[in-house]
Amino acid sequence: MSARPHIVTAALIRTMDDAVPSARAMAVLGDRIVAVGAPGELRERFPGAEVRDHGDAVLVPGFNDAHQHLVDMAVTVDQVDAGELADSRAMLAALAQRSARTPPGRWVRAFRYDETRGDGPQITRADLDRVSVEHPILVTQVSDHWGVLNTPALELAGLDRHGDGVVTELELFRLAWSDDAVVDLPSTDEHIDGIAELTRRYHAAGITSVGDALVTAGQLALYREARRRGRLSVRVTALIDAVHVEEYLAAGVGSGFGDEWLRVGGFKAFVDGAVAGRSCLLEQPFEGSGEHGVRVTPTEELRELFRRVHLAGSALAVHANGDRAIGELLDVVEGVLRESGDTGPVQPHRIEHCSVLTPELVRRIRAAGLAVVPFGGYVGAHGSKLLAWYGAERLRRMFAHRWLLDHGVPVGGSSDYSTSPYEPLAALRGMTTRESSDGTVLGAEQRVSAAEALWVYTVGSATVAGEGHYKGRLAPGYLADYVVLGADPLAVPVGDLADIPVLRTVVGGTEVWGG
Ligand SMILES: [Zn+2]
Repeated sequence: MSARPHIVTAALIRTMDDAVPSARAMAVLGDRIVAVGAPGELRERFPGAEVRDHGDAVLVPGFNDAHQHLVDMAVTVDQVDAGELADSRAMLAALAQRSARTPPGRWVRAFRYDETRGDGPQITRADLDRVSVEHPILVTQVSDHWGVLNTPALELAGLDRHGDGVVTELELFRLAWSDDAVVDLPSTDEHIDGIAELTRRYHAAGITSVGDALVTAGQLALYREARRRGRLSVRVTALIDAVHVEEYLAAGVGSGFGDEWLRVGGFKAFVDGAVAGRSCLLEQPFEGSGEHGVRVTPTEELRELFRRVHLAGSALAVHANGDRAIGELLDVVEGVLRESGDTGPVQPHRIEHCSVLTPELVRRIRAAGLAVVPFGGYVGAHGSKLLAWYGAERLRRMFAHRWLLDHGVPVGGSSDYSTSPYEPLAALRGMTTRESSDGTVLGAEQRVSAAEALWVYTVGSATVAGEGHYKGRLAPGYLADYVVLGADPLAVPVGDLADIPVLRTVVGGTEVWGG
């Protein structure tokens, strides 16, 4: 069997390859790019090849969201999306409707609840009990680091000590997203349908690869099943929940295991709480309070885990948001690297989010050889409450893309969906303008250019996952993963980046979405 090449032409191909930054044609054989150049030259070189012409459109490498939660959010695609509703009252009404259509005893859920949205009151267990005591109810706040349960849900979770129904951090993760979750888990068929549906939305936004930033053993098996059934059309790099680290390492499964569709990127651990949950671990307290946020993993435990993963040649991706959390993580990393010499991993260890920085922390991150995966769209998505909680001064050193790129730190693009919207073009707008939804500019000194923002969401995301040698650029030998855009992201005013139409999305030479 000999596959035949095809030629893709467009007004402009932004390759992100320094050797040939722009072109008008590329030749694709199977799932790979084999040549980039001028249309006439490639037609001559590949006579008889089919030509797919995209006319005036502009091609860029497929967007890669290096940290989001596809397999978890696939469960909620048909639940109440509070992010689409005006306030908590509207959410409670939607939950009541949902309960009325749900058999008693089955769970009812809402996600992306934002207690600062609109003027509805902050909800409690009592509000959810008024919705229904026939159904266990879980509402997860937009950070996914805390949630509210009604009384039946608390009873099922064995947590009736929580008077207001609030459950936080690891306790919430275990009850909602672990392999022995208390919430109803969908059947394999339903869950795979959910993955396919959320993936379809991602493709419509130009996404061709994702990092799934917390994957359990059961969820990895589910991804494999989705792929076996031909239902996985986005490339997934899985960060395995560190609770499984011993089983995986004993089986020789670590960073790099898998293939271009489903690959283990490393293991995932946590230092602190969340930016959008107002619980990250800070040096200076939250504005107008004495609270410094929370540490969720004892430092000694983190040190043992990092040492174990590092010496096994795998990468650890550690969630650390606040400047105190990042400093404590760096103490651990520097100590272990010092004692273990250069038995480095096959790919960089990562700091996930890495939200509140100082120049000194950036210098230490660079010196330790770490990669970082900051939020791309938080200023746009969460602007006004960030100002109230963190203050304008601190926002000048949050989501510090400018500092990190200037220091040569590998930076990936991330929505952390569902904690902010998944559309990469909206994140490009946020990173270039630093404008919140009400137009306020927060931390203008961390702005990057459109070219840099595009680099972060393509080359950068591939690099932080150890995949930069075959993904993220449109160059010979690279995967034919690309997006067909209605305008050049490097030519439109940065304020218009989010409005660029995504016309088509192609993964491995095959169209997965066409608008
Ligand atoms: Zn996350």
